[in-house]
Amino acid sequence: MRDSFFANTELIGLIGHPIKHSYSPFIQNYAFELMNLDYVYLPFDVPTENIKSAVNGILALELKGLNVTLPHKEKIIKFLDELSEEASIIGAVNTIVNDHGKLIGYNTDAHGILETLLPYKDKISGTKVTVIGAGGSARAVIYTLLRHFKPEVINIINRTHQRADTLVNDFSLKMRYDSFHTFELFPPDNAETLSNSRLIINATTMGMFPDVDDTITDLEESFNEEQIVFDLIYNPTKTNFLEMAEIQGAKVVGGLKMLISQAAKSFELWTGVEMPMDKITLKLEEYISRNAD
Ligand code: NAP
Repeated sequence: MRDSFFANTELIGLIGHPIKHSYSPFIQNYAFELMNLDYVYLPFDVPTENIKSAVNGILALELKGLNVTLPHKEKIIKFLDELSEEASIIGAVNTIVNDHGKLIGYNTDAHGILETLLPYKDKISGTKVTVIGAGGSARAVIYTLLRHFKPEVINIINRTHQRADTLVNDFSLKMRYDSFHTFELFPPDNAETLSNSRLIINATTMGMFPDVDDTITDLEESFNEEQIVFDLIYNPTKTNFLEMAEIQGAKVVGGLKMLISQAAKSFELWTGVEMPMDKITLKLEEYISRNAD
């Protein structure tokens, strides 16, 4: 890692709360180093009441851009000047570019989700899918599914039913899709919904470090060998939810590829340079196994 910075070093920030365990600073700073770019990426733990000040800080301190992580991806939108098409439909932003004082919001999570699911496109297009969660990343999931995989039915399971209903209303209007079904998160009732789905996606924080023993369901009848089960969580790299699905024969996919793909897209938006993804993946896997508890 570099040990000196200069007056014209470009600064990129990350805001979220909490952000202590994010891998993004590692990924971005290593990519800057590999590509010989005079940039530095720093995390800032910003509670919700300080989002507006943080956005003003981008302009005051002339940051080149920002990543935004949970729980700010939806709330930050009202402070931005412009949104990309996908960020506007999704209603969540994870990347901001400071274009000479104009703050433009993007959603590169959608790209990460697409890159992760593309290898399974033939298996999942036109089938029943279930998304668990109704937050910012669930919105990016729904957008990607509707745009690229044309599911027959999308079931949405969420702890707060009202939030799932709001999501459905938004997407029915914006993307003209009317095959949504919503359910409350109540595992015994959800087992049939899950087992009838070709693709299951966990877009909640359940099972994320440090609460690794939490899981959306411990009912093994939810899973079968025809399914693809994708958990957006990347820490741990394989959640209990995925472990259980794998034992039942499902093909399981963790959140690491999405993490690196969304990071690569953000990197490109800030620098105009392609991120060397293979090298980053190897280095990140090495870093994770070195730091595993
Ligand atoms: P978010 O907007 O805060 O949404 C959180 C979701 O989790 C909501 O649906 C929430 O339900 C649910 N939830 C939280 N605690 C719960 C609990 N105890 N029981 C049941 N449900 C609970 O967060 P987000 O930005 O969408 O992120 C969600 C997950 O995706 C996180 O684990 C994050 O690390 C992961 N992610 C991964 C990547 C990647 O690159 N791999 C990118 C983005 C996000 P309610 O509506 O009821 O509150």
